[in-house]
Amino acid sequence: MVLHDPIKPLIRAPLTDPFGRDISYLRISVTDRCDFRCVYCMSEDMAFLPKRDLLTLEEIDRVASAFVSRGTRKLRITGGEPLVRRDIMNLFRSLSRHLASGALDELTVTTNGSQLARYAQELADCGVRRVNVSMDTLDPEKFRKITRWGDLSKVLAGIEAARAAGLRVKINAVALKGVNEDEIEGLMQWAHGLGIDLTLIEVMPLGDIEPARLDQFLPLSMVRARLMDRYTLDDDAYRTGGPARYVRVRETGGLVGFITPMTHNFCESCNRVRLTCTGTLYMCLGQEDAADLRAPIRASSDDTLLYRAMEEAISRKPKGHDFVIDRRRPRAAVGRHMSVTGG
Ligand code: SAM
Repeated sequence: MVLHDPIKPLIRAPLTDPFGRDISYLRISVTDRCDFRCVYCMSEDMAFLPKRDLLTLEEIDRVASAFVSRGTRKLRITGGEPLVRRDIMNLFRSLSRHLASGALDELTVTTNGSQLARYAQELADCGVRRVNVSMDTLDPEKFRKITRWGDLSKVLAGIEAARAAGLRVKINAVALKGVNEDEIEGLMQWAHGLGIDLTLIEVMPLGDIEPARLDQFLPLSMVRARLMDRYTLDDDAYRTGGPARYVRVRETGGLVGFITPMTHNFCESCNRVRLTCTGTLYMCLGQEDAADLRAPIRASSDDTLLYRAMEEAISRKPKGHDFVIDRRRPRAAVGRHMSVTGG
């Protein structure tokens, strides 16, 4: 619906799904490429998309801006590794106009941190206030094993650069059975010591990878119970607009977030949709249904077709996902890797 008054600017109705959830959060995967090969995320010999299939940065801006005009208040740039896409700062720079106009509350990024030392100041200059850095361990050897190609010292330098640029850093760590489960307390102590919050994520069955999912899955209910043996965890109302639920640790004063798609389904309050680097819109991380937004933008320079495709897509947003990791379903619940849909 378009409410048009010739005196006031064009006001478009927010996008609302069939379950009454306002879609106010768009995550954009700007590339499927990454300079790491995390074992739970990608196989070592990933085949990447040909460059011609990708939306240009201008096309990404166009789709993002259409969402902003229909009620999106938060944009997260992700990937693959978003900071390895060529000229990515052009996108941040152009999207920052929506922060300046007040149409957008937040422009943020999820990164593996490898390029952060180079880009932290520019991100801050574009109005980015917070960055999520994915880091599952503080042990350089283990870091190399998990990421296959990563260098922990670069990520730590990136985190320092981000802090120096005034960005608020949050660490995201995937809890992995037998890999970093003994380190979670250490990660928390380190992060909280620097005034950084830590969010833990349950491994999700996305994309086929070599090690069996079942071997990696560590329920966060168990991690939480272990932390509670040593710390006092108070439920906290803090929200970032994402799926994490937080506790404040009395002894450290810091926050720990839990993203628990497996042990506690967080779909009821889902306000998110995800755009891939080829212009496919996924209405749910854990379902296959998707809408193509590349065809409507390439068919016309006018946004009418784009708006129609967006509305039609949101009218099909499912109630939730049905991830299961069990021995009867050893294959991935969803064939796409996280690097395709964007974490
Ligand atoms: N390269 C960026 C990064 O490392 O943050 C952004 C993309 S990455 C796919 C986003 C997040 O998804 C990371 O925190 C990563 O650990 C997480 N992730 C990837 N595959 C996952 C899976 N199967 N289950 C849970 N989290 C996953």
